[in-house]
Amino acid sequence: KRPTEFTLYIEDLTVKFGGFTAVDKLNLYVDRNELRVVIGPNGAGKTTLLDLICGRTKATSGSIRFKDIELTGMSEHRIVRAGVGRKFQTPSIYESLSVRENLEVSFPRGRSVFGAIAFRRTRDVVERVEQVAEDIFLSEMLDRSAELLSHGQKQWLEIGMLLMQEPELMMLDEPVAGMSVSEREKTAELLNRISRNRSVIVIEHDMEFVKHIAHKVTVLHQGKVLAEGPMDKVQADPRVVEVYLGH
Ligand code: ADP
Repeated sequence: KRPTEFTLYIEDLTVKFGGFTAVDKLNLYVDRNELRVVIGPNGAGKTTLLDLICGRTKATSGSIRFKDIELTGMSEHRIVRAGVGRKFQTPSIYESLSVRENLEVSFPRGRSVFGAIAFRRTRDVVERVEQVAEDIFLSEMLDRSAELLSHGQKQWLEIGMLLMQEPELMMLDEPVAGMSVSEREKTAELLNRISRNRSVIVIEHDMEFVKHIAHKVTVLHQGKVLAEGPMDKVQADPRVVEVYLGH
């Protein structure tokens, strides 16, 4: 398979902070429509890896290719435009706007021309909002103020805001942290659904949740890939067991 046939093709990626190597000659290949979970002990380099992909941190060396686009050296803004979405742990929704407005301002052409909440409510915007609202279980709450949503619903809304831009690669950092059991189940369903037509990378600590959602797991340790494969295989790998028991 050629590099451009993958959504994400990372080779020899290295980042040093002073004398410390946080990501060390890392290779990672993510297929189209794959849901990849990245696990690993604290300090393994998981967050730094996502920061590198979205352009927040600059690589010391190596290459990050997204389809046929070389991302290394590109600005965060251009990487978003190229089709890479990133959800951070704390939601950055507009609390004073309704669910509908939050989704509307996230439509690609919404914000750039008229400013934060000015946009044209064209038919394609309305249709996209309704489709996304259904995906994130908020169809019944479109006109509710975002500040009235539960913690889990706010997380879904932020995922919805990213979906409005139809990213081909979406990255999520601990999406179920702080969620109730039923919210977790629905989030698993949501992630499976959104990975049907895009690639998704999730950092997750909750192993039960990982088993639910993962196609394939990558275990990071000291900035390197320690193991990779289906969850049951990875979990039985003595090197993985050692790293987790050692902490
Ligand atoms: P994880 O997300 O797996 O817990 P991180 O990617 O946050 O790990 O961190 C990996 C290592 O890199 C940690 O030891 C962390 O202290 C270090 N690190 C991350 N960002 C910086 C930075 N900007 N400057 C210096 N060290 C950093």
